[in-house]
Parts: sequence; structure tokens; C-alpha cells
Amino acid sequence: MLKLVDPANGNTPSLARYADDPRFTALVGELHSEARQVLPNVRGCVWMINSTATGGGVAEMLPGLIMLLRELGLRVNWAVIGSERPEFFALTKRIHNLLHGETSAGIALGPDDSRLLENVGQANAEGLLPHLGPDDILVVHDPQPVCLGKDLARRRGLRAIWRCHVGLDERNAATQAVWRFLRPHLDGYAAAAFSAPEYIPSFLAGRASVLHPGIDPLSHKSRDLTVSKMVGILVNAGIQTAHEPVPTPDFPVPVRRFVADGKLVTPGEIGLLFRPIVLQVSRWDRLKGWRPLLEAFVRLKARVRAGGASALSPRNQRRLELARLVLAGPDPAGVADDPEGAEVFRELCDAYQGLSPADREDVALLLLPMDSRKRNALIVNALQRCATVVVQNSLREGFGLTVTEAMWKRHAVLGTHAVGIRTQLRDRIDGLLTRDANNPEEIAANIEALLTAPRARYDMGGHAYRRVHERFLVFAQLSHYLSLFSRTLGIASGTGLAE
Ligand code: UDP
Repeated sequence: MLKLVDPANGNTPSLARYADDPRFTALVGELHSEARQVLPNVRGCVWMINSTATGGGVAEMLPGLIMLLRELGLRVNWAVIGSERPEFFALTKRIHNLLHGETSAGIALGPDDSRLLENVGQANAEGLLPHLGPDDILVVHDPQPVCLGKDLARRRGLRAIWRCHVGLDERNAATQAVWRFLRPHLDGYAAAAFSAPEYIPSFLAGRASVLHPGIDPLSHKSRDLTVSKMVGILVNAGIQTAHEPVPTPDFPVPVRRFVADGKLVTPGEIGLLFRPIVLQVSRWDRLKGWRPLLEAFVRLKARVRAGGASALSPRNQRRLELARLVLAGPDPAGVADDPEGAEVFRELCDAYQGLSPADREDVALLLLPMDSRKRNALIVNALQRCATVVVQNSLREGFGLTVTEAMWKRHAVLGTHAVGIRTQLRDRIDGLLTRDANNPEEIAANIEALLTAPRARYDMGGHAYRRVHERFLVFAQLSHYLSLFSRTLGIASGTGLAE
């Protein structure tokens, strides 16, 4: 049943620490002044409500968000709903997949499903009720607890906001069915927030706003690394040969590389510090566009080996000859809830084994250890920093934090027109957008364009960094929440958004 969770995990830097960094001083100052305006109107507590305390992006993001909102002066709590009934989570998983447009498990949702969602919502609402005050605001994350918000808004007149983290930028039978199903359960909500405008169903248009995810610039994934720290991480992770001793010990579980004879080995030297590196880091998911990216790189290499694609200067010819493709993702053995990941990785391995020996030299398929979140994050950070071009060739993308992470590291990113990516990355300003993520020729041309234009890459990398600084850091997210609270309170006093 419902549990109250303590968000303090000791990992969130204080706002004062961000403010000490000159890059963030002004942003933190603005947040404090926004908070001063909002605070007098927020008389109750804010409740973040979701369905799991660990695992998944929402659970990962909430503790930091809550701690920072508390520092801004709000009283914020975290409650996690539960149910003894396994069919409830089977239903909410189906709802989740339908919101992504997935029709394979059928699209039928009926009155029994509605009753189940309502019963679990009401039972959890009962658990929360003794803790609630009349002025509290509920922020309900994703579909699982949606009926809890509806119930408490109706029975107690509480203000409820629905924060939906999933969506699809087109309508199909699945999304139509699931929105028809969810609509009555969203009746009592004062406002809703989505990660992109394309995800907002028309019936919520008047009440919905866009709230982008953001990255924490002091996290292990995104914090600055000195050159020696970066090299130390690569050496400790087994992806760089040490020519000199490094001060830090080797990681307990190294990165592993898939090689031609079908084995997984500790990679050693793969040229990360010396060669132009084209990198994609993602989950092993078909929608991340791995296969067309691999195919594109192989075609580019074939052209270069045949004497150069176009009129290349000797220096650019050399750059392309030396370039390597690094495809990195989580070790599927360490990701319990992702059986598809292992299958997708296996398919890539099969494709890799079909390459010529020269191409196999130039492509590294890497499995990143999952035994420690911190070490995994540091490896991703170091890999992204030593890449020359970071690619995110997604066919679909909800937002694409890997893009944000690479842009923050001043990379001109090669993305696609997937909605989450084009929200962040402006074509030819912060990087390049491939129109058709399934077209290896177009991807190859874009990789070549970026690898052979260091000056343009540098300029675009600078724009990319500024764009993330302005819009996609955790501060922008906090500011969105503050304005969401004040708008929600505005609705209550009759001055806010119309239904
Ligand atoms: N990631 C990671 N280790 C990996 C692969 C990915 O930490 O081996 C991280 C990546 O850095 C990013 C997140 O997983 O922070 C993926 O988020 P994104 O929004 O790009 O895609 P999603 O996986 O949510 O579809």
C-alpha cells in the first residue's frame, strides 16, 4: 500500500553549492527570487506521488527535485503508491505501452480495467488522507496513481497536477484507445505537464504545459572532469591502456568488448584518446537506430578506403581513415527488467561478426558495467568527453538525455528528427539532424560533414552548450515547477487557465 519515502540520499548538492559555481550563480539567484514570489501563495505541502521508490527515470529524478524544492522553501513530500494485486501493474504497463503507441498486446481497455485503476487509486488515497492538509498540492506522476489524484481532488477539493513522462508524437489506434480510457480519470485535475507539446492530447490542451527534463551539471554523468581524471576513468574501466600508472584503482567490473570470435573481453587500447571517435551511448533498444548507424559507418569507411568520398584534403582523408565507431550500452546482464536489450545487443553482435576484419577493427561494441551507478555514470561521462562526434540516431525519442549530456559537453551532436531530439537540437546550429534515421547514406554524409569540419563543430558545440545552459539544466525544471504551482493556484482563484 501507500508508503511515504524519505528523499534524502546524500547525493544532491545544495543550491548554495551550485551558486558557488559562477556558471550557475545567476540561475540560482533567479530561482530564489521566483520562489520568493510563489511561496506566500503556497500554504500547504506539495506531494510528489509515483509508483516506485527505485528504478526508472522518475524515481531517479524525484529525490534531487524534492530536496532542491525544499531548499527553495517549499514543503515537499514523496509518497509511493502500491498494490498487492499483480494485475494492477500488468494493466499500468499496458497503459504505458499504449501511450507509446504500442499495439502488439491489443488495445482493448474496458470497465473492469477502469474499476481496477480506481480501486487501487482510492485505496492509496485513503492511506494518504491522514497526512494531507486542505491546501496541499498533489503532483501525480504518470498513469499508475492517476485515480488517487482524481479521488482526492473530487472528495477533498485538493489541487492536483498530472505530470506525464510518456508520450508519442503521432496518434494511432493505441494512443486513441488509451486517451479515451484515461480521459474520465483526469477530470478532477487542475493542470497537466508533458515533456513535449506533441504529447498533449487535445482534451487536455487548455490545462497542459510543457515541462522539459533537465540534467544536473554537478552529477557524475555531467560534472567536469580534468584530463587526468578522465584518462584515469578510462584506464580503470579497461578501455584505455595505461602508459603510466594512474592513482585510482581499477573498477571491480571492467567494460567489455564484443570481439569476432564471439567472446566478451576487456578492451584495452581502442584509440579513444588518439583517434576521431564517433560515439553512441544508449540502451540496447531498436528505436535507438543502432543498425542504420553501424551500416552508415561501414559505408563511409568503404568510401574512404576506396580513395576518398569526395574531394577530401589529405588531412580530412586521414581523419576519416583513423575514425572509429564506438557503440556503448548497459550490460544486459545488469538490467533485470529489459530482456529485449539482450536480444538487440545480440543482433548487433551478429551484424558485427559479418563485417570485414578492417571494419571490425574500426568498430567497438562495448558493454558498460552496471554494478555501480556512480562508476557507470563516470564511464559515460568520460566516453562522451573523449568523443569527436556524439550521435543519437533514434527513430523515436521521448526526450533523449544522452543528447543533452553531449551538448552540455560542448559537442555538435548528430541527432534525428525524433521529437525529443529536435526539441533540444537545432539543425546546423547545435549540430546536425538526420532526416531519416533509417537511411545509412544520409547518416554517413552527416558523420563525414561533422568529422571533416572541426571549426564548424567547435562553433556548434558552443551553441549546444549555451542551449543546455539556458533550457535543459535542473534549474529550468525547478522554475517550471514553481510556475506550475502558481498557475495551479491561479486556477483556484479563477484567474488561471480555462478548462
Ligand atoms: N545510460 C547510462 N549507461 C548506459 C547507457 C545509457 O547511464 O550504459 C544513460 C544515458 O547517459 C542517459 C540515460 O541512460 O542518461 C538514457 O536516457 P535517454 O533519455 O537518452 O533515453 P531512454 O533510455 O530514457 O530511452
